[in-house]
Amino acid sequence: MAASTTATASNISGKSLTEMLQEIQAFLETEIYPLEKGVRENSFQAMLPVLAEKRAAVKANGWWTPQISEKWGGPGFSLAEFGKVSEILGRSPLGHYVFNCQAPDAGNMEILIEHGSDYQRETFLQPLLDGKIRSCFSMTEPAHAGSNPVIMSTQAVKDGDDYVINGHKWFTSSADGASFAIVMAVTNPDAENRYQRASQIIVPTDTPGFQLVRNIPIMGEAGDDYMSHAEVKYENCRVPQKNLLGKEGAGFTIAQERLGPGRIHHCMRWIGICERAFEMMCRYAKTRELAPGKPLASKQTIQNWIAESRAEINASRLMVLDTARKIDEEGAYAARVEISTIKFYVAKVLQNVLDRAIQTHGALGITDDILLSWWFRHERGARIYDGPDEVHKSRVAREILKQYS
Ligand SMILES: Cc1cc2nc3c(=O)[nH]c(=O)nc-3n(C[C@H](O)[C@H](O)[C@H](O)COP(=O)(O)OP(=O)(O)OC[C@H]3O[C@@H](n4cnc5c(N)ncnc54)[C@H](O)[C@@H]3O)c2cc1C
Repeated sequence: MAASTTATASNISGKSLTEMLQEIQAFLETEIYPLEKGVRENSFQAMLPVLAEKRAAVKANGWWTPQISEKWGGPGFSLAEFGKVSEILGRSPLGHYVFNCQAPDAGNMEILIEHGSDYQRETFLQPLLDGKIRSCFSMTEPAHAGSNPVIMSTQAVKDGDDYVINGHKWFTSSADGASFAIVMAVTNPDAENRYQRASQIIVPTDTPGFQLVRNIPIMGEAGDDYMSHAEVKYENCRVPQKNLLGKEGAGFTIAQERLGPGRIHHCMRWIGICERAFEMMCRYAKTRELAPGKPLASKQTIQNWIAESRAEINASRLMVLDTARKIDEEGAYAARVEISTIKFYVAKVLQNVLDRAIQTHGALGITDDILLSWWFRHERGARIYDGPDEVHKSRVAREILKQYS
């Protein structure tokens, strides 16, 4: 189990990180895994009351917002330390939500801490940190390639003390039930540098003109609430200029900042999924008999899948933790090649491991009686969001090739 890897010495209530990880995993197994059936039945909203109870227990245990610095009420873990927590939480689709470190809120908390005004921190950040509200991040547009988001149609035009926003977004994750969106919109269309044309603006979702068109079905499942991805229209959405995050034109700079740590969070979460899928695969291989006394595990193909998965998961963890260490020590820019490398590498390992685990389970693997199919459906996006594989591979190769010029 991953909790036994070399955890360092951060202490919460006098406990080492290793002890804390073991306790969190035990908590997930007894309190959270039994709730996962609700996720598979596709009714997140119906689960909110019981999830609120579990969140209260997490707070009482001192585990709340484990990604946040001490100044803002968190434990103050390094990124590498939080990565280990993220792995354990990733073992359940509910883990990050119950601990209040789920995407996209974790990223929004981070940018509000770094760039928010006193008003924005009091109005939007504090309730997020307290888990009283949720938020979303609205950048991608159906009409333009999200891989090159500098080309976007959404505009925010100044009018008196306000911005008036018009645009059409999609894949605004978790917009359903969110209290506000951080919207990327063009504010400076004439800026020479195209990376300085857009800004991030906070739009409360009860603003007239904010229209959640639909939760987009993902491979047959639209989901709801936190577990959904929305198409959103902004029609003459008027918000005060004090809702601008950071400086005008700084939208892409701020967006870049959130991606480094965000990719560590996601990659470690994927490793948690891999570990749980791996355990399911091994357990099933040992118990499913092809004939009396002949379990699946006796077949070399299954043994190969187990060995290959073990190697890929171990390699992934080492790569991600090393990248987290580099970000901790040298910053996200210095670690940009490593960040891109883990993004495409671990996303593919996740897909490999899930596919092998499903294949080992035969028909059962594609049913919603077990979690594997849910993950296969919902985590296919891992190779697309936060930059598709191809964009990251190209970036890595270009950086490497510079050394050969
Ligand atoms: C599950 C999920 C959640 C998401 N959540 C959010 C969110 O909360 N907020 C938000 O704003 N957006 C979100 N997104 C959108 C995501 O950021 C975009 O899907 C992503 O940036 C890719 O953009 P696109 O879908 O327009 O694909 P495109 O940019 O149209 O690219 C299509 C394909 O072309 C290929 N391609 C692209 N560029 C290159 C290149 N340079 N070289 C070679 N091939 C290339 C890739 O294979 C890519 O998959 C989410 C997406 C998913 C799947």
